[in-house]
Amino acid sequence: MDFLRPTTWEEALAAKADRPDAVPIQGGTDVMVELNFDMRRPATLLDLGQVAELRAWGMEGGACRVGAGVPYTTIIEELGGPLPGLAQASRTVGSPQIRNRGSVGGNLGAASPAGDSHPPLLAADAVIEVESRDRGVRMIPATAFYLGVKRSALEPDELIRAVHVRPATGPQYFSKVGTRNAMVIAVCSFAIALRPGERRVGTGLGSAAPTPRRAYEAEELLARELDWQAPLDPALLRRFGELCAAAAAPIDDVRGTAAYRVHAIGVMARRTLTWAWNDHLGRRAA
Ligand SMILES: Cc1cc2nc3c(=O)[nH]c(=O)nc-3n(C[C@H](O)[C@H](O)[C@H](O)COP(=O)(O)OP(=O)(O)OC[C@H]3O[C@@H](n4cnc5c(N)ncnc54)[C@H](O)[C@@H]3O)c2cc1C
Repeated sequence: MDFLRPTTWEEALAAKADRPDAVPIQGGTDVMVELNFDMRRPATLLDLGQVAELRAWGMEGGACRVGAGVPYTTIIEELGGPLPGLAQASRTVGSPQIRNRGSVGGNLGAASPAGDSHPPLLAADAVIEVESRDRGVRMIPATAFYLGVKRSALEPDELIRAVHVRPATGPQYFSKVGTRNAMVIAVCSFAIALRPGERRVGTGLGSAAPTPRRAYEAEELLARELDWQAPLDPALLRRFGELCAAAAAPIDDVRGTAAYRVHAIGVMARRTLTWAWNDHLGRRAA
């Protein structure tokens, strides 16, 4: 097996262009499991661990630009203010060791429907920055990134460089159902992002369909009917939960049944909207 170790982004892009079959490795928390269990045996590994810029984040054009290699621990410690939904999801990933190495870029590269970063990225209208040496940069909205089970819009000669997420303008929450409290892949998950200034609510469903997805009809319902000054109308809350559940298209598998997942999505949708709404009203009163 060849092991390529670029030290700059340009070298990394050149390596991927010359060897499109090379498998990128960032934190290795997915790739090393696949190698150890002989699930794949790539001819070439492209180690991105020496490309320092991938582990940095900063503000750019009014958005947080989070390098693809920024580990979950950094998101939790440094980005809880601007990106509370993503930080909350990051806290639920694996164990401290996994959070120290695992990255949002790796979660996107794996494109598992159960990946914990996807629902908050969808709810917050994130955009994925990808690049190839020969065709340059593409900015892909999260909604267009996930194409199928473990399939994304990334081309073989492209690498993920960063994720762009606008700082939260309202409460955000992430909720995950698992068979225990830690070290667990989601049975299903849900994220919500309130945008009081735009009178909009973003949603993200995880592990509830072949790809992470938004509940568009539920979002449209709230855009039409939410009174942003008033307590939540119980009938509207119930309808929101029903439409989120209806957006799910899950399967039965070892982690849970489709019927349970549909039910749980509805519960998490109602619960997270209630939490977020209480925060929203509390902020207005303060
Ligand atoms: C014990 C354990 C517990 C886990 N728990 C969770 C959990 O609770 N929630 C969860 O979501 N995940 C979990 N995971 C999976 C994994 O930790 C996450 O998916 C993590 O985000 C992967 O990040 P990484 O940097 O380690 O990726 P890697 O393993 O380095 O890469 C993952 C994939 O992304 C590709 N890739 C990496 N970087 C790039 C790039 N810059 N451009 C293009 N492609 C790239 C790789 O080729 C590979 O296909 C767990 C894994 C383990 C081993």
